[in-house]
Amino acid sequence: HAKSDPLAKEKLFNPQQEKNLTRQVLLESQLNQALDDETDLEIWYQPKQNLHSMEINGLEALIRWRHPVDGLISPAEFIPLAERTGLICEVTDFVVKQVCQDLPVLRKQGFEGKISINISANDFLRPNLVQALLDIIAESEVSTSDIELEITEGAFISDFNHCILLLNSLREAGFALSIDDFGTGYSSLSYLTRLPVDTVKIDMSFVRELAHSPQAEKIYKGMIDICKALKFKVLAEGVDQDEQRTILQQIGCDSIQGYLLSKPLALDKLLGYLNTAE
Ligand code: C2E
Ligand code: MG
Ligand code: MG
Ligand code: MG
Repeated sequence: HAKSDPLAKEKLFNPQQEKNLTRQVLLESQLNQALDDETDLEIWYQPKQNLHSMEINGLEALIRWRHPVDGLISPAEFIPLAERTGLICEVTDFVVKQVCQDLPVLRKQGFEGKISINISANDFLRPNLVQALLDIIAESEVSTSDIELEITEGAFISDFNHCILLLNSLREAGFALSIDDFGTGYSSLSYLTRLPVDTVKIDMSFVRELAHSPQAEKIYKGMIDICKALKFKVLAEGVDQDEQRTILQQIGCDSIQGYLLSKPLALDKLLGYLNTAE
């Protein structure tokens, strides 16, 4: 084992790891630059459909980094990097700013729903998160009731009581709130009862078997029933088949998101999508 191996220290930095580290350091400074210049970063939008009215009643803002050399870099790679290096707050501010520019355009096209923005666990450690968000929004035509904030369970690990206070002040400021990727990671039913949120987004891993296994359907329905008993709206993530949508409708799910409706789209493509979807 590593402890008793005299060469363990050298093995900590093999050539591959050194390469990875170099890439991380480079990406960090480039991301920092992109945020300062507000270049190469784009916000794409993925639609949500209400299963009662069947209307597109929401959009999720998802960031994209068009790296000048490496091409499109997935948020799955650079969001964790931004979280480790503290750049995530600037990422969040950038997304909020961009949403404030795009929403008036969408309103003119007749979109009436909310846009949701992903908030990172590290944003919860900012002493002035609520005010920072309000300051950006105040400079635009957008109001807090136009925006939903998506928060993953990871945000609740550190200081649960602090999180409840913060969620309450975000809610008092007028934001809608949702729990993202529910059922993964730090999942506990007991904390769910204490969360002041409007919607629970059930992680896409639960939808995969839905059309193939009665067991999976029972588990899914159980999750929906618990959420509804606690007065939350339920959204199913990752819906990519019509059969899944039909089952979700039957078992009382309120809304869906996923490739069945659309992949995330740049604003111009989204405007086209909304025109044909209505
Ligand atoms: P998320 O918030 O759970 O977003 C959903 C992710 O699932 C998106 O990936 C979306 O493209 C993908 N997805 C949606 N429907 C389907 C489907 O039917 N099948 C499959 N296979 N995938 C689907 P994306 O855009 O790559 O984002 C990945 C994650 O990165 C997001 O997960 C979120 O946690 C994070 N992220 C993205 N943008 C931001 C941002 O602006 N701020 C923060 N803090 N995190 C972000
Ligand atoms: Mg999300
Ligand atoms: Mg999610
Ligand atoms: Mg998910």
